[in-house]
Amino acid sequence: MDISKRKPGTASVWAGELDLFPYGSHTVPVINTVTFAYKDIDEWYEIAKGNKKGDIYSRNTNPTVQVLEEKIRVLEQAEAATSFASGMAAISNTLFALLKPGDRVVSIKDTYGGTSRIFLEYLPKINVEVTLCDTTDHEQIEAEIAKGCDLVYLETPTNPTLKILDLERLAQAAKKAGAVTMTDNTFASPINQNPLDLGIDLVVHSATKFLNGHSDTLCGLLCGSKDLVDEIFRYREINGASLHPETAYMVIRGMKTVELRVQRQNENAMAIARFLKNHPKVSEVFYPGLEDHQGHEIAKKQMSGFGGVLSFSLKGDYDSVKTFLQNLNLVHLAASLGSVSTLAGPPRTTSHVELTEEQRKQLGIPETLIRYSAGIENAEDLIEDLEQALKLV
Ligand SMILES: *Cc1c(COP(=O)(O)O)cnc(C)c1O
Repeated sequence: MDISKRKPGTASVWAGELDLFPYGSHTVPVINTVTFAYKDIDEWYEIAKGNKKGDIYSRNTNPTVQVLEEKIRVLEQAEAATSFASGMAAISNTLFALLKPGDRVVSIKDTYGGTSRIFLEYLPKINVEVTLCDTTDHEQIEAEIAKGCDLVYLETPTNPTLKILDLERLAQAAKKAGAVTMTDNTFASPINQNPLDLGIDLVVHSATKFLNGHSDTLCGLLCGSKDLVDEIFRYREINGASLHPETAYMVIRGMKTVELRVQRQNENAMAIARFLKNHPKVSEVFYPGLEDHQGHEIAKKQMSGFGGVLSFSLKGDYDSVKTFLQNLNLVHLAASLGSVSTLAGPPRTTSHVELTEEQRKQLGIPETLIRYSAGIENAEDLIEDLEQALKLV
């Protein structure tokens, strides 16, 4: 059976698991081994040369890890996939594997904080020029791409104000310039958005978030054409940011419910966004599912759901934010997102803590902004909790 043709709910359960495992195990065995032994020296040689399928050493390949890679490959409808110890390992490995001195990258100002630091601090060190455009200014991004570049790096929706980029439009611009396109699909998850279908070359996930879904492990995943993924994999083999088989198992288990979880989180976030939108103590709500969100039309075109993350700002000052957050019950005040339980926090103390108030203002991040990652709880309970905390502000 060709699992690649199955819908996400089926693929997340069965991809990589259609053949029987040793002992007829119903679950994916965790192959906790560093090395793989061979009785036949010639067979060992053929595998080591890459002429025959098999494993040699777990920094390179491991059967448990490969099941996970097959799941994301099918979910993103990709030719190939590989995995990393964290989302940042996936992003940095890919950038350093593909770029060389003299290259030019075009990206946006609102990429994930760690990615942004690679752009501002580390790529310039190896003489790679990086141009960061205003995130939703598609004309500016296209103009910068047209000047000539080697890699276009995108992210949509963005953190924390859920800005939306038109992936198909920017993929076309990059193709004309002969640049490779890469996008961070963490906030959307493969359930809501498949960038490769829109013409993007490489898609990266912090599987730490929605894919694992339980906030109990870090993991990074990358998908694309076989040629590009092979090139990145060859660098990962020696860079060493490999995923541990135990961790791979946790992500495999989490991913079996990714469609159920994300559909529920989409619904919860939408209901909460609508509730907050009409609340007198809330000044602004950022959620691409709201009709008046700046990127709503593009989101409607390229996403099948609007995601589990929203953000909103309160009227008043930072003390109102503190009162509000500290009186919420059904939430952990913490960084990260995409967990089964609701997480919330102010970007002022989490993702954008290192910026000055002026820099946050330039990025359009109000001081009273709260990022809220809806879990899979009951929406009525979450709204009731928000309502009682807002009363105290
Ligand atoms: C969390 C996150 C990352 C980094 O992933 P880690 O697994 O924490 O290394 C990258 N991009 C986005 C959008 C994220 O939310």
